[in-house]
Amino acid sequence: MIEIVVGDITGLEVDAIVNAANASLMPGGGVDGAIHRAAGPELARFTATLGGCETGEAKIAPGFGLKARHVILTVGPIWKGGQGGEEALLASCYHNSCRLAEQEKLRSLAFPAISTGVYGYPKAEAARVALEALRQHEANFDRLICCCFSEQDAELYRKQLSEAGT
Ligand code: ADP
Repeated sequence: MIEIVVGDITGLEVDAIVNAANASLMPGGGVDGAIHRAAGPELARFTATLGGCETGEAKIAPGFGLKARHVILTVGPIWKGGQGGEEALLASCYHNSCRLAEQEKLRSLAFPAISTGVYGYPKAEAARVALEALRQHEANFDRLICCCFSEQDAELYRKQLSEAGT
C-alpha cells in the first residue's frame, strides 16, 4: 500500500529518499536544499561527479549523514502550462526512481511532491500523476511513501487515492 505521510523527508529512515533535484545535481533550494543540509557536504561532492541529470531521469548516491541509506536524485519538469510534455516527464521521474531502487534491491522508498514547489506543477495534478506511476511499482516495495510537506498537500493525495477507489 502507498503511504501518505506529512513531514520532513530528511528524517525518514528508509532505504532511499528521492530528491527533487535540478539538472546540475548541485544543491538548490526547497527539498533539495534540505536534503543536502541533512546529508552534509559529501553529498554535493558525490553528485558533482555524476555528470548532471536530464529531466525525467534519475541517479543514485549514498545517503551520507541522512538516516536514509541512499538518495535518488531526479529532475522534475518545470510547469509551462501543460503543453510541453510535463505530465510524461513527471511520470518518468517516478518510474525511473522506482526502477533504480528496484535494480538496487531497495525495499523502502520515499518521494517528495516533485515539481510542485518552485517548478510550479499544479499540486492536485502532480499528486494524480505520482500515484498513477507509483501504483505500478507498489508490489516491488515493502514501503512506498509519499512524503507531503503540509497537511493540505497530503489531503490532495488522499483525495486522489479515494477517487481511484484504492
Ligand atoms: P521543485 O523544484 O521540484 O518544484 P521544491 O523543492 O521547490 O522542488 O518543492 C517540491 C515539493 O517539496 C514542494 O511540495 C515542497 O513543499 C516540498 N518540500 C520542501 N521541503 C521539503 C522537505 N524537507 N520534506 C518534504 N517535502 C519538502
